[in-house]
Amino acid sequence: MSALIIDGKSLAAALRGQIAVEVARLSQQHGLVPGLAVVLAGSNPASEVYVGSKARATQEAGMRSFDHRLPDSVGEAELLALIERLNADPAVHGILVQLPLPKQIDSARVIAAVHPGKDVDGFHPLNAGRLATGLPALAPCTPLGCVRLAKSVHSTLAGLEAVVVGRSNIVGKPLAQLLIAENATVTVAHSKTRELPAICRRADLLFAAIGRPEMIKGDWIKPGATVIDVGINRMAGDGGKTRLVGDVAFAQAMQVAAAITPVPGGVGPMTIACLLLNTLRAACRGAGLAPPQI
Ligand code: NAP
Repeated sequence: MSALIIDGKSLAAALRGQIAVEVARLSQQHGLVPGLAVVLAGSNPASEVYVGSKARATQEAGMRSFDHRLPDSVGEAELLALIERLNADPAVHGILVQLPLPKQIDSARVIAAVHPGKDVDGFHPLNAGRLATGLPALAPCTPLGCVRLAKSVHSTLAGLEAVVVGRSNIVGKPLAQLLIAENATVTVAHSKTRELPAICRRADLLFAAIGRPEMIKGDWIKPGATVIDVGINRMAGDGGKTRLVGDVAFAQAMQVAAAITPVPGGVGPMTIACLLLNTLRAACRGAGLAPPQI
């Protein structure tokens, strides 16, 4: 048996195409062009790549992209002042502060300073609380992408046994909330979990968000399961190059699972598409319009 590879790249491209149609409609009918401000503090090479791809995708979808680069030495007060300006700017509907921030800055304070209606990363405590209580919320983009990828192979997730390995505020916890909202039966595992392989083997849907290269082996996977690999681990490759691997031992998993996301080309592209979707939704809600059902 060889698993179906869930093509995150083409699913993301299709979603971005739908978003672009809605953005054009919004602009024609209401004169509203969604705008996304991305704030990058410091010079982390991986962050610069992510920010560059986000800006490109924003413009390709017909939205406005506002790029704010701050030096590594930026003070917290200066960053908070920028966020205040973006909160008040009517052309900005979404604000994304790229993490990690330089060490002198309190990330929690910065996240809480973003207006919840413009919090397209879905990290503000108000959005986290609304998500957890089943109220409409801007939810984090990576978990949104994971659920869409799982739903690309399951018409419904209701009643399925889902295991999420990882409990970060960015991925594991909000993913668990979204899966509960989809009526899956959810287990969240972490570094203190006992019998992790046995717990993983229960999963019809296995989500790996750990940050440990190829930790989940083939014999941790239930035959016929769907595996969504969130991990991005940079490894030394041939000729001094780096290569990306996920948290799942992909070749082994291919022999057991029914469907699996590749790394790269799985969750990563869907995350960016969901960021655009959140920006579109935030722009609609900000203007008192119903967000499109896509
Ligand atoms: P994180 O904040 O470091 O959280 C990692 C989680 O994994 C923690 O909950 C930790 O448990 C758990 N863990 C660590 N070692 C474990 C072990 N041996 N057994 C079981 N659980 C273990 O990381 P994150 O931000 O959630 O990101 C996870 C991965 O996803 C990273 O590779 C990251 O690069 C990737 N990522 C990808 C995207 C994308 O768009 N594709 C987006 C975000 C993140 P404790 O809580 O007990 O410490």
